[in-house]
Amino acid sequence: MFIPTSLGLFAGRQTGRPDGIEEQLIVEESRVVPVPPSEGFRLLAVHAHPDDESSKGAAMMAAYAHAGARVMVASCTGGERGDILNASAGELAHAHRDLAGLRRKEMAEAAAALGIEHRWIGFVDSGLPQGDPLPPLPFGSFATQSLERAAAPLVKLIREFRPQVMTTYDENGGYPHPDHIMTHRVSVEAFEAAADPARYPELGEPWEVSKLYYDRAFSPDRIRTLHYAMVENGIDSPYEERVKAFEAHPDEEMFRWVSPHETTTQIACSDFFEARDRALVAHRTQIDPEGFFFAVPTWVYEKYWPWEDYTLVTSRVEAPTPETDLFAGLR
Ligand SMILES: [Zn+2]
Repeated sequence: MFIPTSLGLFAGRQTGRPDGIEEQLIVEESRVVPVPPSEGFRLLAVHAHPDDESSKGAAMMAAYAHAGARVMVASCTGGERGDILNASAGELAHAHRDLAGLRRKEMAEAAAALGIEHRWIGFVDSGLPQGDPLPPLPFGSFATQSLERAAAPLVKLIREFRPQVMTTYDENGGYPHPDHIMTHRVSVEAFEAAADPARYPELGEPWEVSKLYYDRAFSPDRIRTLHYAMVENGIDSPYEERVKAFEAHPDEEMFRWVSPHETTTQIACSDFFEARDRALVAHRTQIDPEGFFFAVPTWVYEKYWPWEDYTLVTSRVEAPTPETDLFAGLR
C-alpha cells in the first residue's frame, strides 16, 4: 500500500509508509538545518495554560534561546482548573490548597529548563467542560471574555516586547479545549491590532509582528513517522489506533480537531529534546512521567523526526516556503 504524503513540500519526502518503511523513514541530512545565530531576534509564543508551552514547541524555543534570540512565552491563563494528576506526596497539600500557586512554581522551573522568559496574561482557566449536555463555562473565565477585552493584555505585551515572530494554535485550538480556541482568536486579533495605531491607542506604540505561525505538533506525517519508527524498533506505539483509523480513511483528518494546514516550516531542534523533557517533567501536577508525552523515546525523535513543525499563516515579509527558520526573510 502506498500512501502519498499530504504535503509534498520537501523534495523526496515520503513518510509513514507501511511498505519499505526502513527506507522511507530515513531523514535526509539536507532537511536538518541547524537554527542560525539569532541575536537581536525576539519570538513570542502564546499558550493557553502553563504546561502547553512544554508540550508544543518547547525544543524549538530552547534552540532559538540558545542561538541568542529572546524567547518569551505568554500563558493566557493560570491553569487554575487543571486536574491534579501527579503531585508528589509532599506537594499534594499545596496542590489542593493553591493549585495556581503551585503551577506558577512549575512554570518557572519549565522556563528555566528551556532558557526562556515568561509572562502571565492573567485570565482564569475555563476548564474542560464535560458531560452531555456540556455545562456552561465558568463565569468570568478566559473563554467567556469578549475578544476586545481578552486581546488587550496581549496587544500591550506585543508592543512592549516587539517580537518579529509569533506562534499560536490553529482555528481549532490545536486541541479542543475552549481556552485553546480562545488563545487562537486572541493571538490573531492581537497580531493585527498591535500594528494598528487606531486600535488600543492607550496600550503603547504600534508594533508590527512580521510573521505568524500555527503549531503543528499533531501533524499526521509526524505522528505516522513516529508510529512506524517505533513499530520498526519493537516499541509499543501510543499512536497505533489513531494511525490504523487514519489509514482506513485517509480522506479524513487524523485528528478531527486539527485544521488541515500544510506544514511549511520545520525547525531542527534535536539537541533540545532533553530540555523539552525536563520542562515537561517540571509540570509535575499535570504530566505523568510514565504517560503519553513520554511514550516516544527521545532517541526516536532524534533519529526519525528531529524537528518541530509549524505553518506560516501570515507574513509581512518576503519568506518563501518551505523554510527551516522562523526568522527567514528577516535576516
Ligand atoms: Zn492547555
